[in-house]
Amino acid sequence: MVGKRVKCTGCSLLCDDIIIKSDGLYVDEIYGACLKGKERFDQVVSKNRILSPYVRKNGDLVKIQLKEALNKCIEIIKKSSKPILYGFSTVSCQAQLKGIELAKKIDGFIDSNSTICLGKVLNTSKQTGMALTTISEVINKTDLLIFWGANVAESIPRLLNKALFSRGKFRMTGREIKTVIIIDPVKTASFGVMGVRDISLKIEPGKDLELIHFLKEQCCAPNTIPPKEIAGIDSDDLRRVLIQLTNTENGVIFIGQGIVNSTLNSNVIQELLELVQIINIKQQKGRMSVIMLGGHYNMAGFDQVALSMVGKNHSLQFDNNQLVETSDTIISKINNEDFDCSIIVGTDAVSHLPWKLSNKLTSKPLILIDNKKSATFSVADIVLPSAITGIECGGLAYRLDHVPIELDKIVNPPGNIISDEEILSQLIEGLKTT
Ligand code: SF4
Repeated sequence: MVGKRVKCTGCSLLCDDIIIKSDGLYVDEIYGACLKGKERFDQVVSKNRILSPYVRKNGDLVKIQLKEALNKCIEIIKKSSKPILYGFSTVSCQAQLKGIELAKKIDGFIDSNSTICLGKVLNTSKQTGMALTTISEVINKTDLLIFWGANVAESIPRLLNKALFSRGKFRMTGREIKTVIIIDPVKTASFGVMGVRDISLKIEPGKDLELIHFLKEQCCAPNTIPPKEIAGIDSDDLRRVLIQLTNTENGVIFIGQGIVNSTLNSNVIQELLELVQIINIKQQKGRMSVIMLGGHYNMAGFDQVALSMVGKNHSLQFDNNQLVETSDTIISKINNEDFDCSIIVGTDAVSHLPWKLSNKLTSKPLILIDNKKSATFSVADIVLPSAITGIECGGLAYRLDHVPIELDKIVNPPGNIISDEEILSQLIEGLKTT
């Protein structure tokens, strides 16, 4: 069996250097993937794989034919005047496009996981602008890597291999010239990569803004003597950070969930982006940029597809088949019970949302399109099984640095399972003809 080079959809890094051996039916051997990636390939034959459509009868999920399940979905959607659609971060861009088309057709509200994650950064950047970079740039040029509220060692396991331990094309040296700064209130697994020159900043919870303010005022003034302590960080470490920001030739800040969801002040992201601008204006010889660390493999894709279709990256409300202004998000829609059915695609909303919200979500008819059993599966009214994108069907996805990556089909899906894109297309067609 000859090895084939494929991409991994285990996380938003979409590694393109995975070698697999397959007989066309199963993925037999996997080389180069991390444990998370291997788990993704193993999903094809895992015990929690959804292999049949289901409908809830007398409280239990029972297997039915796909045609019958689609008809039941169409019945629910036709009776609904306020449907919500949510998820769409673990499906292809083609499926995301169909999801938005469906929402438009049924006057629904559609949101992706990005709305409670990195969509917030993209939104904020509309006011401030954002100096983005790519993983290739980081590998080839970066000498300062700042991980802010991001435990990449566990969430995007091979990022450090590629970004930190690699030898860049334009540099004769690798890890030895790269400095890492980790800013986190928790000593995560990522702190394990720290070397003597690196700086670990165990910031007090919720004090990110305090640190950003200090850096905005003081950065690029190398002789600044910081006060005793800021946000729980001692003055020696603050001084070392200022020296790094002043001297870096090519720095990058990886923006993680920890700072995006710092709810104490909604201006944190805006102020962080302003800090990057200030550094770039004041810094004489170098450049600072950012990368947003989404978790799901195509979270960035939904933002791209929605922006290109309707000019807004998430929280899309349609009325009379037109996009209308709304300040709602999926959270407010569920919290205010402003919906009468939900279509959840490729996400375990019931586990991810707080109990109060997931309880409200499950109080109305719930249609699930997914390939693995989850808490949402166990409470869904109708379940439509989908092929695993990047393994059982192809499609486009956007990497965490917003670079488009084409995904391939490696093996056939089991039974008559079809892709998310096909399921959504059949729902749209079914609504036209019934
Ligand atoms: S880092 Fe992400 S994309 Fe790369 S192998 Fe691991 S799970 Fe797959």
